[in-house]
Amino acid sequence: MNERYRVYSTYLKEKYGEKVYKLPISIPDTCPNRDGTLGYKGCVFCGSIGAGYENLPASVSVARQIAANIAHIQPKYKAKKFIAYFQNFTNTYLSPAAFRTFLQAACTDSIVGLAVATRPDCIHPAYLDILAEIQQQYGVDICLEFGLQTANYKTLERINRGHTVAEYIDALLMVRPYGFRVCTHVILDLPWDTEADTIETAKIISALPNQEVKLHALYIVKGTPMATWYKEGRIRLWPCEEYVRRAVSFLEYTRPDIVFQRLVGRVPKEAAETANWGMGWWKVRDMIDEALVQRHTWQGKLCTYLHGKAVRKWVATEEESSKKDGEPD
Ligand code: SF4
Repeated sequence: MNERYRVYSTYLKEKYGEKVYKLPISIPDTCPNRDGTLGYKGCVFCGSIGAGYENLPASVSVARQIAANIAHIQPKYKAKKFIAYFQNFTNTYLSPAAFRTFLQAACTDSIVGLAVATRPDCIHPAYLDILAEIQQQYGVDICLEFGLQTANYKTLERINRGHTVAEYIDALLMVRPYGFRVCTHVILDLPWDTEADTIETAKIISALPNQEVKLHALYIVKGTPMATWYKEGRIRLWPCEEYVRRAVSFLEYTRPDIVFQRLVGRVPKEAAETANWGMGWWKVRDMIDEALVQRHTWQGKLCTYLHGKAVRKWVATEEESSKKDGEPD
């Protein structure tokens, strides 16, 4: 298939030689933005159950969650390899000993990788060392998934993230020596962000050691502060066409090797006031695919800003002129 951006399922198939599926896992963790360390309200878009709409409760053991998820997925997709995805809340916000125990419990036969979702301000060498130890012990691949949402620090404040862009940069630099894969989550159409913010987010993500990205359209989860703002008319959502336009721009400015886990998120209808303009997520994805074709563009087309691009022009010019002086090639 001639893909205009790097698609996650294709990447997994190339890497593992067959289809691989992510299994969502919940553990009894919380988030510093909810337990009072930073605040009690959480990010304004985040529902009380976090992101785990498809998850089994954290009271179910990790081994049983994995077994139940495999039993559900395997007959449908004939998959044999899986990634255990510690998805809900902040999975590095518990004691290092408990963190190790939960990760070890996930390393069963058919698990080829662990994905761990966290916040940029909750990463510490103690957790990274444990991940490195588990990677070596069980031969699993490790991916850390960071919520950034936007590189606009003013918007981060409005959505009550409790961290700025600096903590995100610091976390990525901390992870780099470990060589783990990193995925960053972005909400492309926050009401206060412009297209310039979208592009800057793509550029910052590309300049840092990211290998994967997850894009979401803003959906309004019931019972959140954002739902109140939405119902009171205090925020205006961008139309779908604008989301598609921004997704295309984001792709154009993103480093060509970065893999897109998704171009649009999903949430159960009953949990949201509104999501994806009332369409299935795949419809929005198809619109982005069509826009890429219509605009004759692709991922990385405008990724021309990294590694001293402008300076290289002068270096090349000097090399050329020195050749004219009779220097051998
Ligand atoms: S950091 Fe994550 S879990 Fe915590 S409130 Fe924000 S979105 Fe929810």
